[in-house]
Amino acid sequence: MACGYSKNYILVDNADGLQESLRELKSFKSKANLLAVDCEGVKLSREGELTIVTVATEEKAYIFDVVKLKKVLFDEGLREILEDKSREKLMFDCRQDSDSLWHQYQVKLTGVLDVQLLEVMKRREEYGGSSLKFQLSRRSGRGSEVRRSDRGSEVEKIRGFNYCLELYTKDTRAINTKDKGRILLQSDRNLWKRRPISDVLLRYCAVDTLELFKLYNKLKSANGEELSRLRLASERYTDLFRGKAVRSFDQYEGNGFLPLDVIPSEDGEDNLTADTLCNGCKRLFPQDEFSEYQLRHNEQKCRVCSSLRKRKLYY
Ligand SMILES: [Zn+2]
Repeated sequence: MACGYSKNYILVDNADGLQESLRELKSFKSKANLLAVDCEGVKLSREGELTIVTVATEEKAYIFDVVKLKKVLFDEGLREILEDKSREKLMFDCRQDSDSLWHQYQVKLTGVLDVQLLEVMKRREEYGGSSLKFQLSRRSGRGSEVRRSDRGSEVEKIRGFNYCLELYTKDTRAINTKDKGRILLQSDRNLWKRRPISDVLLRYCAVDTLELFKLYNKLKSANGEELSRLRLASERYTDLFRGKAVRSFDQYEGNGFLPLDVIPSEDGEDNLTADTLCNGCKRLFPQDEFSEYQLRHNEQKCRVCSSLRKRKLYY
């Protein structure tokens, strides 16, 4: 069966191919001047192994083989693109990618627009999310006394890429391609470092980046204010794992909830004094993130970490 992506991706795993691809990527200009980026690896993080970096324009995905090209891949030009703030890069949950690029190859990912965060912003906008409601009540003079620790409904779930494709772009072929790859990946946890890379996985990488443009175009609004908030939120997301002195790899780091204070609020109220440590995720928050009881007993857990603990108790 003919594959719709066969002309849309190229595997780059030798020096000549690398030069040519980098030339194409650097000279590529479009109105939005956007790229899409996604990394794959075995236990992708600073401790795992980064094995593939896919960089795509709206028409074509360049799948760079890190196992074959190693450090040269970054030194010969990919670093420049990934660290260039003016070349904005669509990603979907950039946290592990950013952590592995930095700690394994000293590439400091910059200029990310994280579509996972945009999707949360979109939901808040459409359904009048809890933070929005809170802000409204605060503006009208009510609600200003509500402690952060009592605003439990502000804890939000994040959604996976496949689920977002099903919800928003509904491209059956892309979703099927992802499903096929996922089945393969379930059978072998080292698959991302095995060579040769199968066509199924190459197509999977192509979908991960090319579909990101479609998802972004579905979710974004023409609102410049939204874009600047997304930029700031993505910057925080990029640094969330990368900036940690020590990674814990526990449920407080990896869970299905949006970490607090990543997306700036709409009223610009954002210069909070974060000086109190959450014992779970080890992030700093304003003191009223924690209940009086928690503070008295030195058992501070932010609302996200608290909700994990509660779930544990109930299940
Ligand atoms: Zn926490």
